[in-house]
Parts: sequence; structure tokens; C-alpha cells
Amino acid sequence: MTTYDQWLDAYSAAYDMVPGPLMDGCPNCGRRCLQLVFTGDLDRMVGYAHFWCDNCLQGIGISRTTIPDDAVIQDIRQPSEQREPKIPNYRLVQ
Ligand SMILES: [Zn+2]
Repeated sequence: MTTYDQWLDAYSAAYDMVPGPLMDGCPNCGRRCLQLVFTGDLDRMVGYAHFWCDNCLQGIGISRTTIPDDAVIQDIRQPSEQREPKIPNYRLVQ
């Protein structure tokens, strides 16, 4: 079982790679399927982060962060069902 700390390390590396591509393997399954999408305020560039693996559908959420330039961002002012890109229903590692 991959720990939250391992996911946090992977998140830190992915954050520094924005806009990507994210070349690191998933801390859980090892596949290069990591995705990092932010939901936030496009003017202030703050929000929260969704970080997950498209292969094993595990990941973490980061509650409040500065959004880096050129990141993939959902506009928090839109209704959640209209926000793009879609985020799968992945399992949060605690
Ligand atoms: Zn994975």
C-alpha cells in the first residue's frame, strides 16, 4: 500500500514539472499515468490540486496551493459538472 507521504513526494515532483509531461511513474503501480489538475480562481491563481493515476485510480488531493503557470486548471466559478477537464472518481490515499 502506497503511503500518503509517497504520494506527496510524487506530487512535489509533478508540480515542478508543470506543464509536463509528467514523466515519473505512479508511486503505486509504476505506470506513467499520473495526472495533475487544479481547481481554482483563474485571477488569483490559488486553488486546490487533484493528483491521481489514470491506471490504478489512486491519488491525493491538496487543499490549498498556489497554481503554477501553464497548469491544467478547472475554473472554480463554473458548476462542478461543467468543469473541464473531467476528473475520474479516484480513491484518495489518506
Ligand atoms: Zn498507478
